[in-house]
Amino acid sequence: MPPLTLLTPPLTLLTPPLTLQPPLTRRGSGKVSSEKPNAAAFWQTKSLPDMTPQEWESLCDGCGKCCLHKLLDERDDLPEDAPMQLGEDLHYTHVACKLLNTEQGGCRHYPIRHRFVPGCVQLTADDLDSIHYMPPSCAYRRLHEGRGLPSWHPLLHDGSRAAMEAAGMAVTGYPVTSDERDEPSEATIVTWPLHDCD
Ligand code: SF4
Repeated sequence: MPPLTLLTPPLTLLTPPLTLQPPLTRRGSGKVSSEKPNAAAFWQTKSLPDMTPQEWESLCDGCGKCCLHKLLDERDDLPEDAPMQLGEDLHYTHVACKLLNTEQGGCRHYPIRHRFVPGCVQLTADDLDSIHYMPPSCAYRRLHEGRGLPSWHPLLHDGSRAAMEAAGMAVTGYPVTSDERDEPSEATIVTWPLHDCD
């Protein structure tokens, strides 16, 4: 494997690590309260940019994969802080942001996370062109790529994380360490964050 550099992504997306919304199960109802039985869900009828802030936030499954540090292969022809380019390999590590709750998923201090991790940026519709470096199972990436929500997504289970965890889609099912204890390095690279199913 060629030399690796710690990913310092574009300002518009993550400065590692990226922490997004807290887990769905800890946010309000955990389900789309206005949906009628059999009515098409908002994620089936609306594009991502057209969603309300509440709908947008509810898409986050709280998997925590975006809170893992990532590495890019060293690039000779780009500035060190250049955003990830399409076609570049992104390597996930098992080293997470110190704020990640590794037992329940999600950020332990989401509303005030910038006090502790100033570079943490919230994903918005303006970032969709860069979504290829979110994990393949991320709901925002899946919808942007026209793949829909997976059957295990908490929105389809009344906010429960159980199906997601059973499918191995959350960091809570894996050994994860904190960046307060470990440095992201080639030795910490893992492939499980790249798994997706359904
Ligand atoms: S990877 Fe996507 S779905 Fe998972 S926690 Fe991050 S933003 Fe939410």
